[in-house]
Amino acid sequence: MKPTLDETHQPDTQSWVLTANAEEVDFPIQNLPFGVFRTAQNNGPHLGVAIGDVIVDLHQLRRQTLPEITNAPTEARPALDACQDATLNRLMALGTEPRRALRHLLHKLLRRDASPEIQQALTTCLVPQNDAMMLLPAHVGDYTDFYASLYHATHVGRLFRPDNPLLPNYKHIPIGYHGRASTLVVSGTPVKRPMGQTRKEEQPPTFGPTATLDYELELGLFVGRGNAMGQTIPVDRAEDHMFGVCIVNDWSARDVQAWEYQPLGPFLAKNFATSLSPWVVTMEALAPYRTQAFTRDAADPQPLPYLLSADDQAHGGIDLRLEVQLLTPRMQADGQAAYTLSRGNFDTMYWTFAQMLAHHASNGCSMQAGDLLASGTISGPTDTSRGCLLEITSRGKNPVHLPNGEERKFLQDGDTLVMRGLCKKDGYRTIGLGTCTGTIINA
Ligand code: MN
Repeated sequence: MKPTLDETHQPDTQSWVLTANAEEVDFPIQNLPFGVFRTAQNNGPHLGVAIGDVIVDLHQLRRQTLPEITNAPTEARPALDACQDATLNRLMALGTEPRRALRHLLHKLLRRDASPEIQQALTTCLVPQNDAMMLLPAHVGDYTDFYASLYHATHVGRLFRPDNPLLPNYKHIPIGYHGRASTLVVSGTPVKRPMGQTRKEEQPPTFGPTATLDYELELGLFVGRGNAMGQTIPVDRAEDHMFGVCIVNDWSARDVQAWEYQPLGPFLAKNFATSLSPWVVTMEALAPYRTQAFTRDAADPQPLPYLLSADDQAHGGIDLRLEVQLLTPRMQADGQAAYTLSRGNFDTMYWTFAQMLAHHASNGCSMQAGDLLASGTISGPTDTSRGCLLEITSRGKNPVHLPNGEERKFLQDGDTLVMRGLCKKDGYRTIGLGTCTGTIINA
């Protein structure tokens, strides 16, 4: 369906939370992403909404005796009730309308022209982001990783099959595999170099720390309302089942992957850790930046009808700029700025999230609120928009030369990866996804 624009997207609306009004902050009043946090004082976890450099503690907000809360519109009440939980799952399960009503209520409470009573009450609910420890936003029952970038699939395929990079199913099916929810971690969590079985050329296999640790820049979609087993999610209703997005780093051990992945796909090369940015930017916040789906070559097959909807083709993409930076221990010690490895855009993806979700449920597989679908590595058509080192270095052949003389084929212990996402469009306020970081520690 067509993304709905309303007064919460007005670019000139400011907040009485003054840090939200600065140029190019991730969390202006037009964003209002949801997350879960804890402080030394709050006996959390509590749900929160980020604005400027603070968090509105929704657990505290729920207890305020303001008429705006106690007499909240009917549609917003189930969402307010869900704010007492320790994860976003119940809010996610409510679907679009209660979430939208809560967004409107928060927007009203936080805008600059809110009454002094409102501002006074809300001020007691604010927590500096610097004082909060962010947690995973939801209990993720199931995690699925897709492979939706044609450019990534082609680049990687070419490394292994120079003459035949794309397998025959690629343009017909959103390719994916079932991941592991137990090792999803929030941004900032150190990532231990995994052990694994590998084989060098025709030598006997050995077991030890991966020598080719990589990252994958991806976008994660949190499922909102789910579907019962045996039911499907039609592609033209898929947006109703989406809650919002975060940045995902799908850490990958390439040597383990190369040895283990045939015939059943990725396994231990992927499931040792997957990092998520802590703030979930809702589908409502993304509305102004929705864009058309990937324009297929005339020679490409049309998606089968269960994957094809006119609305999704018109609005299923997201104009979201993404950036990956690397900070080595030496750069950090020398006070140098992080080095930008790539810049890309989610609008280059071959499959939309609606197609991935519709395909996933097309056999009657049940999706549940809080399930996570990751897009697959986001790589664009250019050399500067490749979303992992496997592609950037052509499997280690062409190392990255850092400004201080260091080089990297793959990640070393102590290296820190920083991923960022930004939606920017003329006539609208820029909103950000925040950051997804992780530092490698030794095996
Ligand atoms: Mn991946």
